[in-house]
Amino acid sequence: MSSERQLREAGLRATPIRVRVLDVITDAPGALIPAEILGLVQEGGDADRVSVYRALDVLVGRSLVVRTSGPDRTYRYCSGGAGAGVHSHFYCTRCGTMRCLAPGAVSLDATLLPEDATIGRIEVRLEGVCGECGPGKSLSGGLGACATG
Ligand SMILES: [Zn+2]
Ligand SMILES: [Zn+2]
Repeated sequence: MSSERQLREAGLRATPIRVRVLDVITDAPGALIPAEILGLVQEGGDADRVSVYRALDVLVGRSLVVRTSGPDRTYRYCSGGAGAGVHSHFYCTRCGTMRCLAPGAVSLDATLLPEDATIGRIEVRLEGVCGECGPGKSLSGGLGACATG
């Protein structure tokens, strides 16, 4: 589904900045920090920081974008279209890349949850070392998302 259509179906106006922010997040291989989103949006043309961050907030508010806290207290943003249920992530402690895991990668036993609680959002973060950073793997080349510079 196009970003324009996702925005309209969520009851939002498809402003150019929202479309570009959503495009960038949808195209990313993993979850992005705000600075990365800003940089990618600006590659496509002028965009000021405040507008980009405001658009992000709007997209998160309508669940078009999922906001996940990283271990460094910097939020990561990824596509809300990744699937319902538990939206879990794998975080590489070496390069800081956060990848979305497929729905079902982490499952919960509903019988162990508090009976009287209504769960609105589930956030699971797995930490470890990604294939790009692992021993025996070449550190040159590979995923652009793994570059920290
Ligand atoms: Zn890594
Ligand atoms: Zn994600």
